[in-house]
Amino acid sequence: MLSEPGLEKSGTFRWLEPFEDFLENSPEGIHLLDENGIILFANKAELRMLGYTKEEYVGHHVSEFHIDPSTVEFNPGRFSINENVINLETRLKCKDGSVKDVLTSCNAYFEESTFKRLRCFSRDITHLKRSENLLRFLNHAGEELYASHDTKEALDKTIKLIVPHFADWVVINELRADGFAHLLKMAHADPGKVKWAEKYRESHPVDLNERRGSLGWAMRTGEAVLYSEINDSNIEEGAMDDEQKEILRQLSIQSVMIVPMKIKGRVSGVISFISCNPQNKYNESDFSFAKDFTNRIALTLENTRLYEEVKKDIEERIEIDKKKDEFISIASHELKTPVTSLKAYTQILQTTFDEDKNEKASAMFAKMDKQIDKLTGLIVDLLDVTKIDKGEMIFDFEKFDVNELITEIAEEMQRTAPKHKIKLKLSDCKKIKGDRNRIGQVIVNFISNAIKYSPGKDKIIVSSKCDDNDVIISVKDFGIGIPKTEHHHIFKRFYRVSGKNNYTFPGLGLGLYISSEIIKRHRGEISFQSKEGKGSTFYFEIPLRGNKK
Ligand code: ADP
Repeated sequence: MLSEPGLEKSGTFRWLEPFEDFLENSPEGIHLLDENGIILFANKAELRMLGYTKEEYVGHHVSEFHIDPSTVEFNPGRFSINENVINLETRLKCKDGSVKDVLTSCNAYFEESTFKRLRCFSRDITHLKRSENLLRFLNHAGEELYASHDTKEALDKTIKLIVPHFADWVVINELRADGFAHLLKMAHADPGKVKWAEKYRESHPVDLNERRGSLGWAMRTGEAVLYSEINDSNIEEGAMDDEQKEILRQLSIQSVMIVPMKIKGRVSGVISFISCNPQNKYNESDFSFAKDFTNRIALTLENTRLYEEVKKDIEERIEIDKKKDEFISIASHELKTPVTSLKAYTQILQTTFDEDKNEKASAMFAKMDKQIDKLTGLIVDLLDVTKIDKGEMIFDFEKFDVNELITEIAEEMQRTAPKHKIKLKLSDCKKIKGDRNRIGQVIVNFISNAIKYSPGKDKIIVSSKCDDNDVIISVKDFGIGIPKTEHHHIFKRFYRVSGKNNYTFPGLGLGLYISSEIIKRHRGEISFQSKEGKGSTFYFEIPLRGNKK
């Protein structure tokens, strides 16, 4: 059995030969501390990991090598015979100034119940830690970028995420249709440093066919490039001209990754990640992180671009709609007054010709009066639309007999539509609460459409059905009907079915839109059934007690 080796504080040991060889050549770092925390022994792997010679490490206090000495506050009393330190994550200073993440496990050696030494085993987990951090960073970046709505915001967030944590200098280029990489954003941990680099790039856009340098190559091939270590000859080969060489030297670049952004296999731009710190040279895991990260940025930028396009399109449409509404509002107001006086003069003249027994002239004025009524109807519809848009359509609620209203309207309309027979099927109804004129307007619209869209057919049926709560009014015709594909548009304003059968029918496509707004204000529902070539039935249903408002 091997017993704990005898130790001399000088750091020279009397080992059993094979045991010594075994410890020295272990791939894991091993060190031994005395009861005060002084390093008594360190094997090759431990020294190699941190870059010290035996003399620089052994004989020193362990806390000298820890970034956070509190993690190794050395208190021998803390160790009991059974207590071990297992997988303690520590950060150690290397000789070259860099820092290593190290996983340390220790156990104590006791002699006659007295703590004597601590045996420690260390494993370098720097790469593991970095990958873990990069993964965490990537998830966080994904969330951050996902919430961007415009390109500027997305670019600003990208820069904030990368500089200085992952790169000292970053350049984002967009490949445009002209075949040039246009600078979208450039940022450096020390912004003053890249002012002139920025100017240089703006005045020297890189062409897709540029054979010098990796930017052109990455854009052409869609392949990413990693330069772990930049030396003078890389700069010599890669720079476009002497001015750029000077810029690259001045910025003392150390390591570079050039990664194309791709959308559906097409290169949309390139991101250059540049490290100017000799301690931070990019390796393969940084490279694969940069590729993942760039994919996310590419996707975000594409989304914000699409979002901006749609937004611009919508804004333009809203603007056009606003102008159209303004025009309708002004035009209908301006038309109303002259048409009203035209009607008055027509009626006066008709009466005069009647009195003079000039039948021919009187008949012509009667026709003129009818046309003026049609014109007035169109202007009233336009004014109603304006009122709906502005929320100014006023309703006057009262109790009225809906069957009486239907009968009045049907009689009136029958007089002007001799080719059609308007049939009523009315069931007993209590009085309903609503705006009599506006409900009348809907019934007129339904019946006039039924007449207009059923040339050659004569039957129109107007029905009412009531229960304790609601009334349903319907108007049925046997005319041209409405193709199924058009059904969901019918109540939109200015919508008219376009088809070979429809071009002859006059109208603005406003009647049903206004009707649906009126029914909505009565807390009711408007609907229809229609079959092309067979006819249509338009309905509305409103609560008997009307709108509470
Ligand atoms: P307008 O009749 O002035 O065009 P409406 O808003 O009243 O406007 O109707 C919108 C469209 O719906 C009409 O252009 C027509 O194509 C279709 N439509 C309405 N009622 C009927 C109907 N009874 N039969 C066939 N098509 C109809």
